[in-house]
Amino acid sequence: MACSFLPACRRIDIARFFVLFRPSSNTGKESECLGWAAKDSSGVLAPWKFPRRPLRSTDVKFKISYCGICHTDLHLIHNEWGSSKYPMVPGHEVVGVVTEVGPGAKKFKVGDHVGVGCMVFSCLKCDHCKHGDEQYCDQLIWTYNSLEDGKITFGGYSGFMVTDEKFVCRVPNNLPLDASAPLLCAGITVYSPMKHFGMTQPGKNFGVVGLGGLGHMAVKFGKAFGMKVTVISTSPNKEKEAREVLGAHNFIVSRDAAQMTKAAKTMDYILDTVSAPHPLDALLELLKIDGKLVMVGLPDKPLDLPAGVIIFGRRTLAGSFIGSIKETQDMLDFCGKNNVTSMIELVPMDYVNKAMERLRKSDVKYRFVLDVEKTLK
Ligand code: NAP
Ligand code: ZN
Ligand code: ZN
Repeated sequence: MACSFLPACRRIDIARFFVLFRPSSNTGKESECLGWAAKDSSGVLAPWKFPRRPLRSTDVKFKISYCGICHTDLHLIHNEWGSSKYPMVPGHEVVGVVTEVGPGAKKFKVGDHVGVGCMVFSCLKCDHCKHGDEQYCDQLIWTYNSLEDGKITFGGYSGFMVTDEKFVCRVPNNLPLDASAPLLCAGITVYSPMKHFGMTQPGKNFGVVGLGGLGHMAVKFGKAFGMKVTVISTSPNKEKEAREVLGAHNFIVSRDAAQMTKAAKTMDYILDTVSAPHPLDALLELLKIDGKLVMVGLPDKPLDLPAGVIIFGRRTLAGSFIGSIKETQDMLDFCGKNNVTSMIELVPMDYVNKAMERLRKSDVKYRFVLDVEKTLK
């Protein structure tokens, strides 16, 4: 099986292991679900029907209202990380409304607004699971492109989901559901390292590299925490909106050497959300002594790291992977209290292939969200 994010060499087969301790299945019938699937690495998505499992005791069934399009979906439909399984129904920024709950499910009731992110189950027993870091569990089951009881999991580009309530989060009622969908991956992927590495201190200089789905959420959280936010971008045409709408204090064009040199040694923290190979040394030079750069973007090729740039500045280079369910719920509650949502372009389901092309060119401000409930056909 497989972590959809891990390189092929680190994947292990755990499907049989899981059969040993998954909660026992109800005897009900599978339900047919309509989704949009990629059949091969051409990545072309088209309507496709597949079965969803019958409700287990602690399961929640919900109709999908909206689903965000993460760059990970684009990497995976084209098998850029070598771990893709087809047919693939992508989508891990899933929000909707509960329609049914299993007899043992206690967290939710019919009508609740809920969301599912990148994971739908884990071993619940290892140190990571016990300490609330289940995203690092070796036996994690991903929302899609994973194996559960020997069958491929299918994501949120589809009509409904059936998920164990432990992996379902509550979306605050005051938040619009469409603009909340990206919080389930883009939001938590930046919120978790920001909390973990201390990128929450008012007045500290915080650089965000790449103003896409993840990046614009990092700007929003940085602002909400009272940090001084600088966007570091390859797209000069994003500057006006970054400053005037997102409220960034500064904007640096990363391909402009003069601007980069001027900003050397000014940042306390940098969060790198870039999806493609890019130079790291120039970004690390922006950090003050003892500054930290945390990578969340996952390019398909290794990046060069000249050691001197971290050694001579006692700098830290780290990485971070999504966030736990508890952190995701904390983040959603924070968003509810502070009215933080994503800036989205809402598109119909049959626009998905065009949306993928535009995402490849960074031509979206800042997250495509599929209007699943109204346009799935
Ligand atoms: P996105 O919306 O496409 O944003 C990526 C941004 O990177 C682009 O908007 C662009 O910003 C910048 N960029 C693109 N190509 C570049 C290049 N060649 N050089 C420099 N900058 C470039 O993608 P996303 O959905 O935010 O996802 C970003 C990355 O995070 C993906 O690799 C995704 O798989 C990964 N991811 C990781 C996790 C995790 O747990 N660590 C979770 C979710 C996603 P500018 O136009 O501003 O330059
Ligand atoms: Zn994602
Ligand atoms: Zn575990």
